[in-house]
This record gives sequence, structure tokens and C-alpha cells, in this order.
Amino acid sequence: MSEVDDNYENETICIKFCGVCPSYPRVKGEILFCARGKSVSPKQKSGCNCGLCDIWNKYDLTDFYYCMKGEAKELRRLFSTSLFSSFYQAVQKIRL
Ligand code: SF4
Ligand code: SF4
Repeated sequence: MSEVDDNYENETICIKFCGVCPSYPRVKGEILFCARGKSVSPKQKSGCNCGLCDIWNKYDLTDFYYCMKGEAKELRRLFSTSLFSSFYQAVQKIRL
């Protein structure tokens, strides 16, 4: 599934999970971190409810702590880039 849609429906789902999370930054207006990116004032890691969230399942998300790490789309892009880089380095070693 593609990037998480930034809409009111997803916001209301997120509130049920981020809103009661011990790591929730509690910055006014901030929610739906997997779509909008990290908080301006992230807290320490004290658990993450993302894995329980309907959006996490619907969009096949695999990460946690989006309020600290940033939006899912960017994390996926970084993961793919690092995978490609590792693969490329392995191929280079074989060729040497
Ligand atoms: S992204 Fe995860 S850690 Fe952050 S507030 Fe939401 S559920 Fe908690
Ligand atoms: S996956 Fe996490 S950040 Fe995204 S909507 Fe669910 S609880 Fe909120």
C-alpha cells in the first residue's frame, strides 16, 4: 500500500492510539505522525501503540515511533536506499 493518506478519517483513528500512548508528545495540533512527520518536541521512547493501530495494518506499515522518526514514506525510502546500497556493495565485493 502507498503512503498514508493525510485526512480527517485517519486523524480520528490515530487519536485513539497516539492520543493514549505514553510517548505521545502532547504538542497541540500534532497527530498522524506516520503521514505528517515527526513531532517538533518528541518525548523519550516509553512504548508505541502504532502496531495496534488500524492505519498501521491498512497501509502495511512496519515501523514504530513515527513521532520521533518521521513519516512512513520517508522511512521506507531510506530503507530502500540502504538496502540497494548494501546490495551494490556486496556485488562490488564479489566482482573484486
Ligand atoms: S507514533 Fe507511536 S510512539 Fe509516537 S505517539 Fe504515536 S503511538 Fe506513540
Ligand atoms: S500508525 Fe501510529 S502514527 Fe500512524 S496513525 Fe497509527 S498510531 Fe498514529
